[in-house]
Amino acid sequence: MTDLSVPPAVAPHPPALQACGVIAGYGASTILQGLDLTVRAGEIYALLGANGAGKTTTLSLFLGFVRPASGQVRVSGIDPVADPTAARRQLAYIPENVALYEHLSARENVAYLLHLAGQPTDAPAINAALAAAGLDAAAHGRRISGFSKGMRQKVAIALALARKVPALLLDEPTSGLDPQATTEFSRLLGLLRAQGVAVLMVTHDLLGAADVADRIGFIEGGRLIEEVAANGEERFDVRALHRRYAAQEAQR
Ligand code: ATP
Repeated sequence: MTDLSVPPAVAPHPPALQACGVIAGYGASTILQGLDLTVRAGEIYALLGANGAGKTTTLSLFLGFVRPASGQVRVSGIDPVADPTAARRQLAYIPENVALYEHLSARENVAYLLHLAGQPTDAPAINAALAAAGLDAAAHGRRISGFSKGMRQKVAIALALARKVPALLLDEPTSGLDPQATTEFSRLLGLLRAQGVAVLMVTHDLLGAADVADRIGFIEGGRLIEEVAANGEERFDVRALHRRYAAQEAQR
């Protein structure tokens, strides 16, 4: 008989992104050597590390493109190996160079990509997402072929906003952006955080990460070797972070 005096256990929300003890790689080469990483709703996590440390491989893990040999990967509680389609429905992935249909306008790209994602969306909602992503109204109907890198990112972020995904994966989002576009990009990430999106961004831009991230993790040899959380007004001790990052780069 059920004991009604005991309140039912409330299942805690699973983290948006979680890797526990993951060992994974390509063929015979092992790249991730026991990766532990968690990103929760409403958190911006910046993953830094030297070239080849395994940052992009970490993103591929959540997307289900790399299978762990051991350990556990979950996207909102879903195993991307067992059900990659369901896991990817929870994610928006923005690569370094956003791929869009060049001959279509920003609005048409978002409409078409939402349709492909099985989420047909009306024009006012698409316009609202493009505006929230900071794309000028005059650009909504313009062909993508004339867009800068920053404008393309805004279109990709508008798509993520319209899809209402719980997690966003970004690979080197600020490389090649000018300071103004980088500041605007940080503002957009803040907007996503306020909506409860979990953001995992891979970057070499320590200052940009220190500006916007809630936590910064350093990956070396496929393992997270240090995590630092934003703290107080100053958020991060940027000099200490720089020393640690430079030392890591020098060891290569
Ligand atoms: P970078 O800062 O240079 O982008 P990264 O930390 O993102 O580096 P990864 O792209 O994850 O590094 O690569 C980690 C290692 O895995 C590298 O040695 C790379 O050569 C190797 N690698 C990446 N993708 C593949 C692949 N598809 N097949 C085989 N090896 C790969």
